[in-house]
Amino acid sequence: MKGNPFKSLKFVMFLSFFLFFMLIIFAYNVLMLKSYNKKMIDEKLAFVQNQCSILGNQILVNQYTMDSMQGNLNVQIDQLANVWEGRILVVDTNYRIIKDTYTINQGNYIVYDEVFKVMRGEKDKNISMAKDTAEVIIPIANADKVISGVMLASVSLKDIENTNGYVSSQANVLILLFSFFAFAAAFVISNICVHDIKKLNSKIKELDDGHLDDLHVKSRYNELSQLIDSFSVLLTKMQTVEASRQEFVSNVSHELKTPITSMKVLADSLLMQEDVPAEMYREFMTDMVDEIDRENKIINDLLTLVKMDKKAALEVEQVNINALLELLLKRIKPIAAKRNIEVVFESFRDVVGEVDEVKLSLAFSNLIENAVKYNNDGGNVHVSLNADHKFFYVKVQDNGVGIPEDSQAQVFERFYRVDKARSRETGGTGLGLAITRNAILMHKGAIKLYSEPGEGTTFTVRIPLKYVN
Ligand code: ADP
Repeated sequence: MKGNPFKSLKFVMFLSFFLFFMLIIFAYNVLMLKSYNKKMIDEKLAFVQNQCSILGNQILVNQYTMDSMQGNLNVQIDQLANVWEGRILVVDTNYRIIKDTYTINQGNYIVYDEVFKVMRGEKDKNISMAKDTAEVIIPIANADKVISGVMLASVSLKDIENTNGYVSSQANVLILLFSFFAFAAAFVISNICVHDIKKLNSKIKELDDGHLDDLHVKSRYNELSQLIDSFSVLLTKMQTVEASRQEFVSNVSHELKTPITSMKVLADSLLMQEDVPAEMYREFMTDMVDEIDRENKIINDLLTLVKMDKKAALEVEQVNINALLELLLKRIKPIAAKRNIEVVFESFRDVVGEVDEVKLSLAFSNLIENAVKYNNDGGNVHVSLNADHKFFYVKVQDNGVGIPEDSQAQVFERFYRVDKARSRETGGTGLGLAITRNAILMHKGAIKLYSEPGEGTTFTVRIPLKYVN
């Protein structure tokens, strides 16, 4: 255990359990000793009271007076005081001490408030405790409760103190024994508790070293099981990200290589022939320029995608969405017209939204360009705009080739194309929809696609009117 032990969960758990056990043991010990002590004192006092009242009865029966202080009863009182290691006083109704086992006050008058109270019947008895003595005052009364004196017995509690001392020394031995048990129990429990954490940690290390590709660890505790589940989810996510990163790199290489390969083929075929006519040079050079344009487009799209991926801050401003879409359509319409494709814009209301104009224009122009690119000659493209109090909605609908169901989830992936040849023909890089989706997600919006092969495709976009960071 390096450094501060309180930073070790195991140590803190051990200490907590140990202290908890010790607290219970000490509390139990204190309570036991206290109640034992009280019981002993109560019993002794009850015994003293009992003996005193027996003596009192005998005093009554024998009409005990100062003058008749000899005899059996007198000896009995002395013996009792002796046994109790205390003192007994017998006081008559005139508050005269007719018997003092210490003899010093015998014949004197007593001035003691508690004795007055018992004599007058204000109290049926008085018990008071000092450090190691107890004092009992009880009346000497007949069956009709007529008081003819009081007895005052003070008794030593030292014997109880001694017994208590013995019992507590025995208890201390037990405490020591229990402390060992508490220590062992705390040690075992804290070890059991952190065992699964240690196991998890060693598995994570193995994973980090590359010896494992999954955790394969289970815990008996719910919290740890949840942690393991969350970790597994995170791991799967990381593995997916890594796989997609590798796939992306290999896709990028492949895509960038294709135009270069074509250019090399074109250049080689020119070099291999002698006396190549000028028209052929021109034709091949034109093809090579096309390939360079294509390479350029891929690189530009990749850079755009990277910018969107970086979660760069949006440059949000109030933008008239109607004007934005109309401008895009104005640009696309001439291209569509070449293939006799009609592009219609329908706006249900004027919409002004807080958006990044450049990024959103790119997103919508990709959708509209696709609707033209993947359309049949003479087809239709219908773009509509609507809004409620929270969002605006853009729908781009075409009656073109459509997207097969099994490709619909993948068209938003980078470099994915349903028909590679057609896409290449139309100059597609396979990055358009990935860029579109990222731009929409940056606006906290959503995009959905509905398509029927041979019938057409509809993309619906929903974007919040107010940008929330
Ligand atoms: P590309 O540059 O190839 O157009 P995109 O990411 O824009 O790449 O689109 C991915 C693929 O989705 C396209 O290759 C095409 O097969 C399909 N696609 C996109 N839009 C449409 C559409 N409106 N109609 C039919 N297919 C479409």
